Amino acid sequence: MKLLVTGGAGYVGSVCAARLVESGHEVVVLDDLSTGHADAVPDGVRLVEAGIDDAIGGVLAEGFDGVLHFAAKSLVGESMQDPAKYWQGNVVTSLRLLDAMREHGTPRLVFSSTAATYGEPEQVPIAETAPTRPTNTYGATKLAIDHAITSYAAAHGLAAVSLRYFNVAGAYGRFGERHGVETHLIPIVLQVASGRRDRVQVYGDDWPTDDGTCIRDYIHVVDLADAHLRALEHATAGEHRIYNLGNGLGFSVKQVIDACREVTGHPIPADVAPRRAGDPAVLVASSEKARAELGWKPERVDLAGIVRDAWDFTRSQQGA
Ligand code: UDP
Repeated sequence: MKLLVTGGAGYVGSVCAARLVESGHEVVVLDDLSTGHADAVPDGVRLVEAGIDDAIGGVLAEGFDGVLHFAAKSLVGESMQDPAKYWQGNVVTSLRLLDAMREHGTPRLVFSSTAATYGEPEQVPIAETAPTRPTNTYGATKLAIDHAITSYAAAHGLAAVSLRYFNVAGAYGRFGERHGVETHLIPIVLQVASGRRDRVQVYGDDWPTDDGTCIRDYIHVVDLADAHLRALEHATAGEHRIYNLGNGLGFSVKQVIDACREVTGHPIPADVAPRRAGDPAVLVASSEKARAELGWKPERVDLAGIVRDAWDFTRSQQGA
C-alpha cells in the first residue's frame, strides 16, 4: 500500500514507518519537526517537512491507500496549562486531515488514540467498553477525535481503526524515545543511569498497590507498531474499530526502577515525592479484542527486555 505517516519523525511514528517499509509498503512521512527529528525518518522514506494544516491537501492529492495519524501534542501537564494548543493542534488539525481524506478519496485511517480517553478506571484490566471519562485535556482531545472518526466512517465510508495505547516503551534499533521535555518514567530513570540526571522521583508510595507505587502497562513499541500493520489489513469501509493495546501485565514504578538497575548496573538513587495530580493507581489494558479480531499478541512482554532495548538506544544516542 502507499501510506502517509503523519508524525513519522516522532517516537512511535518512526518505529511504525520503519516496520511498514520492511513489510513492503511505500511510505511518505509528513512531519513539521516541532517535536520529531529528521534523522528518525527511515532510510528510503520521503519526508515532507510541513504541518498538516498547510500541506495535507497537496500531499493527499498524490493518491494514498491510507493514513497513519501519529502527529499530535501529547504532554498531559502541558495540555492542562495550555488547552488551546491541544484543541487546536489535535482536534482542529485532525478534522482538517479527515476532510482532506474525504476530498481525495483516501480510504483507510489508523489513528493513535490513548488510554487517557478512559480516565480513572472502574475496573482493571480496562476493556474498550469501559466508560470514557478523560481526566485531562490531552485525553479529552483524543476522545473528541475518536468521536469525529466514528461519524466520518459512518457517513463517508472511511475504514478506520483507533488504537488506544497504554505505556509505550522500548526502542527499535536507532528508532527510540527522544523528547525535548521528558516526563515518562523509563526514559527518566535511564537518564539517571546515563548520568544526565542525579536521581529519580517516585510519585507516591502510598497507593493501594502491593508495593505502594503506581502500576502501569508497558507495551514494547515494536509490538505496538505490529498492531498498526494488522489494523491496516483489518480496516473495513464504513466501520470505526477501537482497540486497546497493552502488554496485559502491570508493573509498578518500583519494579520499573529495579529492572533499570538490573539492566544498567547503576544504583539509580530514588526519592519518594508527592503524588502527581491526575495519576490513577493502576492502569492495565485488556487487549482481548485486539487478540481476537486482529490476531495480535504482544511478543516482547518481559520488562527487563523492554528496558534493555530502551537502554541500548539511550547509549547509542550518547555515542557510548
Ligand atoms: N512516575 C514517577 N516518576 C517520574 C515519572 C513518572 O514516579 O519521574 C510514575 C507516574 O506517576 C506513573 C508512572 O510512573 O505512575 C508512569 O508515568 P509516565 O509519565 O511514564 O506515564 P503515564 O502513565 O502517566 O502515561
